[in-house]
Amino acid sequence: MQLIKGTEVAEKVLTECRRDIAELAARGKKPGLAVVLVGDDPASRAYVRSKDKKCKELGLHSVKHELPASTTQDDLLTLVRQLNEDPAIHGILVQSPPPKHIDEAAIVRAIDPAKDVDGFHPINVAKLALEDPSGFVPCTPLGCQRLLIEAGIQTDGAHAVVVGRSMIVGKPMAMLLMAKGKGGNATVTVAHSRTRDLAAITRQADIIIAAIGRPEFITAEHVRDGAVVIDVGINRVEDLIADKGYRLVGDVAFNEVAPKCRAITPVPGGVGPMTIAMLMANTIKACRQL
Ligand code: NDP
Repeated sequence: MQLIKGTEVAEKVLTECRRDIAELAARGKKPGLAVVLVGDDPASRAYVRSKDKKCKELGLHSVKHELPASTTQDDLLTLVRQLNEDPAIHGILVQSPPPKHIDEAAIVRAIDPAKDVDGFHPINVAKLALEDPSGFVPCTPLGCQRLLIEAGIQTDGAHAVVVGRSMIVGKPMAMLLMAKGKGGNATVTVAHSRTRDLAAITRQADIIIAAIGRPEFITAEHVRDGAVVIDVGINRVEDLIADKGYRLVGDVAFNEVAPKCRAITPVPGGVGPMTIAMLMANTIKACRQL
């Protein structure tokens, strides 16, 4: 069984980013990322901090806007428009989910698609479907695809089953896997909560991508011998022995599934570090294209 170490692959991506940043610096350009957080959700706050920290480590220009939960839709739209106009900012990310009174779709549409490094704007969703390389692909599925490529997993002709159909992970993952080219050309099945007999479908998979949001949901009965499993899930489960009172587990029951696999990602240390590395890569791409 091959453990696909996301931490190591992410480091490789970040090394490429450092090289690209140096090249841009030689041309007098510095990529800039603005991260906007509305409200005080602890997990979102932690993500925003780690994105800001990674930018600073790499020498990117980073601006963090932490706004109160009472921020209005208009105030947020005004900030997004300012960031659209700001020449020092090449990437804009509004951390999801915003508070209930904010219309997230309207905020995403207000972001300049050329600065939409999360890849959520309809223009970028369309570019992914059209296989237009100038678009931005959501960071998590992009990171999963890179993990498969770096681990030497053949996607060409493989049957990939994506469990989950969200706009952030499942749908773009399916589109990447079915696209022509490296890390694509797979035969893709997308499963979700209404899928009948999920285990019978996932057992046909050469590659399973689990993006469900349910702790250790994919068990040994879902996986055939020799499959490759990419576990996108990040779930907090209570653990009284752990310092924080919880530990992180994936959507896959790692201990029982791993022995059956040809390759599998761990949680933590699998897909998570890739997401942030791909965000840095997308910001550099935006700077190049603007
Ligand atoms: P969503 O809740 O948006 O989507 C979950 C998907 O799983 C839905 O399509 C849902 O189906 C499907 N699903 C739920 N229950 C079942 C079931 N019983 N059987 C089959 N399918 C089911 O989650 P996200 O896509 O945003 O995230 C998925 C996971 O990935 C979460 O654990 C999240 O924390 C993690 N994540 C990790 C990231 C990282 O950087 N590693 C980044 C983003 C997310 P339906 O559509 O029918 O409701």
